[in-house]
Amino acid sequence: MRVAIGGRCIDWRFPGEPEKSAGHAGIGSFSDSQPNTVFVFSRSIKDWSDVGAGDFEGRWNNMVDPTANTISHEAGHGFGLEHQSTINEMRWVVEEYNRGTPEWTPIMGNNLTTDRATWHRGFNVDRAWQDDMAILGNVLGYRADDHSDTMNNATILPTGLVGAGRSGIIGGMNDVDWFKFSTGGGKVAVNLAVIAPGANLDAKIELLRDAGNGNLQSITSANRPDSLGANIFRELSAGTYYVRVFSNGRYGDVGQYTLSIGVPAALRGFNNQFLRANYAGSGDVTLNTQWITGSEILHVVYIGADLDGRERVAFQTWSGQFLRVNADGRLDALGQVIDDTTSFSMIRLGGDQFAFMASNGLFLRADNGGGGAVLANSPWIGGWETFRMVLV
Ligand SMILES: [Zn+2]
Repeated sequence: MRVAIGGRCIDWRFPGEPEKSAGHAGIGSFSDSQPNTVFVFSRSIKDWSDVGAGDFEGRWNNMVDPTANTISHEAGHGFGLEHQSTINEMRWVVEEYNRGTPEWTPIMGNNLTTDRATWHRGFNVDRAWQDDMAILGNVLGYRADDHSDTMNNATILPTGLVGAGRSGIIGGMNDVDWFKFSTGGGKVAVNLAVIAPGANLDAKIELLRDAGNGNLQSITSANRPDSLGANIFRELSAGTYYVRVFSNGRYGDVGQYTLSIGVPAALRGFNNQFLRANYAGSGDVTLNTQWITGSEILHVVYIGADLDGRERVAFQTWSGQFLRVNADGRLDALGQVIDDTTSFSMIRLGGDQFAFMASNGLFLRADNGGGGAVLANSPWIGGWETFRMVLV
């Protein structure tokens, strides 16, 4: 299966007509004699984004999510899926493209959406019951499970390495992935981030302690309703611990994630002072203290790669909240979940030196020689955008 991405639908599919189609595929082309290529008209999607067309629920159409959803949608057609539709009591099709809910849409429904999209089971446009994953499983088979479903073969999670974690795939709603790590004690940040953009998985995690003799003791679990990812931030005694990754269990809650243990560190700026989250995170983040105490310690959490392949990180502060970029570019430490406002692309400048680019495309910079706020407002990397990472 090839997915050709680019151009406009009016280039060859509907020449001379209004721009109206985000993609094209032959249903079942993967299995029959049709050409095994499907098309995504990303330039048409960009055109709609440029004129502020928005998605069908009124959100700003950011181009990236609808393009990702359309790639899955057209590939789904190629593998034999029809549109997921809404029908009435008479089983007549009300809408060919099921819109789902305000937070969710079937991939084979309205693909021009910026919310979460998943495979679905429901009535298709032929008014027949369609179980997307069963059909995909029949055509493609399921990939081999990547991480063990039992504690005995748990995958080791790296600790003490910036930018290190383990990626995995929850392949079915009943898949469970086991991981293991050791700590010398202290605050530990366990983070699961789903892939971005276009995550299908909504995950939950559980932290367990090896209580000896193969006995496990559950410590806590995490499953935020406002985030597809999950994190646990907790004071732990020295020992060996396990993390279990689950699907949230609803149909289509499957997909890719990155699991990592945060690295406790402090960031030292151009003026040799440390970056600090003030007033339990509610104040500005500044670059003006000489010592590493509590408010200077950041758990650097690896959350996967950005679209350019750079490592992405989030910073969890001593109070368990994340460094966050506000609309005016100022940083605070009040982020509750990992999202665009709390994610940074990490640029390695050699040795212990790093720069960090926020989702607005600008680099973190200390203003007023460090005494003012730290802002995500610099288009280039110079001295004040360079930070030395001190592991603590
Ligand atoms: Zn379609």
